[in-house]
Formats: sequence, structure tokens, C-alpha cells
Amino acid sequence: ADLLVTPETDIIRTLFFKGIMANITQTLDLPTIELVAKEFGVTIEKPEQVSKATKVMEVLDLSDMDRLKRRPPVVTVMGHVDHGKTTLLDSIRKTKVAQGEAGGITQHIGAYHVDVEHGGLVQQVVFLDTPGHEAFTAMRARGARVTDIAILVVAADDGVRPQTIEAISHAKAAKVPIIVAINKVDKEDANPDRVKQELMEHGLVPEEWGGDAIMVPVSAIKGENLDTLLEMILLVSEVEELSANPDRAAKGTIIEAHLDKARGPVASLLVQNGTLKVGDVLVAGSVFGKVRAMIDDQGNRVDSAAPSVPVEILGLSNVPAAGHEFEVFLDEKEARSVAITRTMEQRTSRLQQALASRRVTLTSMSAQAQEGELKELNLLLKADVQGSLEAILGSLDQLPQKEVQLRTLLAAPGEISETDVDLAAASGAVILGFNTTLASGAKRAADEAGVDVREYDIIYKLLEDVQGAMEGLLEPEM
Ligand code: GDP
Repeated sequence: ADLLVTPETDIIRTLFFKGIMANITQTLDLPTIELVAKEFGVTIEKPEQVSKATKVMEVLDLSDMDRLKRRPPVVTVMGHVDHGKTTLLDSIRKTKVAQGEAGGITQHIGAYHVDVEHGGLVQQVVFLDTPGHEAFTAMRARGARVTDIAILVVAADDGVRPQTIEAISHAKAAKVPIIVAINKVDKEDANPDRVKQELMEHGLVPEEWGGDAIMVPVSAIKGENLDTLLEMILLVSEVEELSANPDRAAKGTIIEAHLDKARGPVASLLVQNGTLKVGDVLVAGSVFGKVRAMIDDQGNRVDSAAPSVPVEILGLSNVPAAGHEFEVFLDEKEARSVAITRTMEQRTSRLQQALASRRVTLTSMSAQAQEGELKELNLLLKADVQGSLEAILGSLDQLPQKEVQLRTLLAAPGEISETDVDLAAASGAVILGFNTTLASGAKRAADEAGVDVREYDIIYKLLEDVQGAMEGLLEPEM
């Protein structure tokens, strides 16, 4: 009704004349919505499913292609709790920043850079301050793709743990290359070989054993071998050919934002293409602003920020959301009108989201399979115990995958968490639970994001549904 600018009762009446008894809180399916909209002279277009590849292309335009220059890699640190993520981030920052900066004063703006000597040149590496795959995936669920490389921290005295496995799944789902930092090698009971062995079971085979996974033994606390880790990051970033066009209006992503009593709305952002300058007019999500001042990660006022450079900016009209994109406009009027349009769009985006995500249910996938449109079925599996998981994964492997490929993004014991929902939302996956429960908050998150969560207590039934979806035979639910 909001979208059609029509009283709800008119819609209910229209439905009534079509023989559909709907009430005001009822959710309609797409064909019914199309039917109603037509009556009001409106056509419904299905939102395009945005693949990650086009997402990256959105940051770079075709016109950038012949003006690309290398940019520093942006790195996120992930891993199990207590394996040393924070210590590693602090340690890299301290050793590197203290060397050059006066007094080593640092400013927390959500990200920081360090200078590394590599191949005779001084190059930069940018770290996102918030460790963990939760932050990473929450950003991704909002469409942001800021991380170029993931550092997976695994404690050598503890080995691969549940969140290690989750982090691997999340990085792989985002197709972000992983470098393993085997941490705490200073400890007496450290056993790096065991870590490598365990990582092999999750598809990460170390280079020295014939694989392609880079693994660097480090001690975050003693600052040992961090230079090697940084070198490896630069090596990987060379392979990835990370680049952007610095000679254009800036685009990028908000990484943090808050309201400061004295300074007003403050946002930390990462420039991903172009160069941001003081005085630039930008729109971040639906927030309008004119960059009044910029502060870098060392607390210095700066006039401009090139690709991959994190800065804090002042001058926004409101607090934007982390994970939202920003874009500089040459025309202030245009910027204002874009901000206004976005604000209006936001009001209806929930509905659009619900429409878009309707497609990512097991039954909608089945419908796509029937049309021969489904190429890949993404799954997240959660089960009570490892044993059930293995049984399910074993059986899923047996399913014929000629037409439709099964991709299991995550298979882990435990309850279904909000992070799982974020991952599913970000990757267009359905969640299958076996003998497990939904964590508080996960249900609401799934409803909001339109993620299909299915719970089973019989393996056979679960397999039947997956197979049915792959073959396009699943009956729509009533
Ligand atoms: P996070 O939860 O992954 O961020 O882990 P923290 O960085 O908070 O580290 C957890 C604990 O491990 C802390 O007590 C650290 O002092 C300790 N720790 C981190 N790195 C090392 C290391 O390289 N060697 C040793 N011995 N302890 C470490």
C-alpha cells in the first residue's frame, strides 16, 4: 500500500474481488502482488540478483580500466577466540607505527595502515581494526566488499577450533584469499605441524606439503616473524593485482560511524576507488555531506585520501551505517536529491528485500531448477553433533550434481546463530538444521533478511528436500 500510495483497504478490496481473502498483516506471494499492482497500473520488476563479481565491478567502472594503478591490500584478521587476533593487530601496529611516527600516537578509526619494505619499495598494508568473521560477514550482508585478504589466526597450542572452521567458510564464501598465521609458537606446547595437519582436513594444504596455502608461524606477543607475514600479504596482493583509479571522484565503504558530541556525525571510511578530498560532496547510504575535515589513522589532518586509504571524516548531515557505500558527486544538487531518493527507498527496501529474498528459499530454488536456471545450491548445515554432520555430508556427496552443484558453505555443530544467518543472506544460501535449535535473535534476523531456515530431525527427510530442490520437484509450502 505504501508503494502504491493507496489505502490498505483498497488493496484488500481488490484482492477480495479476485477471490483472495487477505488481512492487513498477510504476506502475499509474487504472482499475487503482480496481479494487484497491475490493477493500479504498476508493473513489478524482480530485483536483479547481484553477484559478487559485479559488486566489485561496481566499484570500478569501465572508464577506469586504462587508468588503473596498484593499491594497497585491505586485510581482515579472523580466527577462534583467544587465538591472538587482537594481540596480532596491536603488535603489527605497534612495531610498525612506533618506528616512524612521533611518539607512536595512534588514532582508532576502524582501520590502520603500516609501511612494509618489499621488493626494494616501501608498500602499504591496511588492516581493519575489528577482528572476527562476524564483523566481516555483517559488512558483506550489507553488500560491502572491503576485504582483499583474510588472515586466519590459529593458536599453535590449541589448533583448529569451531570458529577457525567458521572463519574458513566465511572467507571462502566471499572468495577472499586466506593466509594462515600460526600464532603462539613461543609457547612450550606449541605444535605447528598439528595445526597444519588439522587445516588440511578443511581444505588448506600448506605449500611445503604440496598445496597452495601460505602458512606463517608467528608469535604475536613477541612480535616474531611479523615481517614475513606482512611480506606474504604483499605477495598475495601482487597475485591478486589489486588496483583502482586514483584520478576520479571517490567511492568506497563506511567502516564505522558514530555521533560525537562536539564534532557531530563522524564516519570512518575506506576509499576504494578515486581520491577523496576535503570539500567533496558525498552521499553515504542515504546520508548527505560535505567533507569538512579529514583525519588519517595517525591523527593527522589530511587533504586527500587515495584508494585503500582509511580516513575519518567530519561534515556529514547524519550518522551513516557501517557497511554502506559512499560516493562523491560533482554536483551538490544531484547529491542532495540522491540522498533524498535513497531515504525514501530505504523505507520500502524492507519490502523489496523480502521480495528479493523470496527467491532464496529451498522451494524457490526448486522452481528455478525446474526452469533449468539453478546452477548452484548454497547450503549452511548446522547439526547437534559432528557425527550427524558427517553422515549428512556423506549422503549429500552421493547426490548427482550434473545439473546443479551443491555448495556447502559451512557445516558445523551447534545452534543456528545470527552470524549463520548473515552468511546465508550474504551468499544466497539456505540454512538446514538437524536436531539443533535457533539461537535467540537468529529467528528474527532470518525473518528480516528473508533467509530460509529449515529444521529437521530425520536425515532422510533433509536429503529428500535437498534432492527435491535440485531436481526442481519440491512442492511449494502451503
Ligand atoms: P583474540 O580473542 O583472538 O583477540 O585473542 P587475544 O589477542 O585477546 O589473545 C588471547 C590471549 O592469548 C591473550 O592472553 C594474549 O596475551 C595471548 N597471546 C596472544 N598471542 C600470543 C602469542 O603469540 N604467544 C603467547 N604466549 N600468548 C599470546
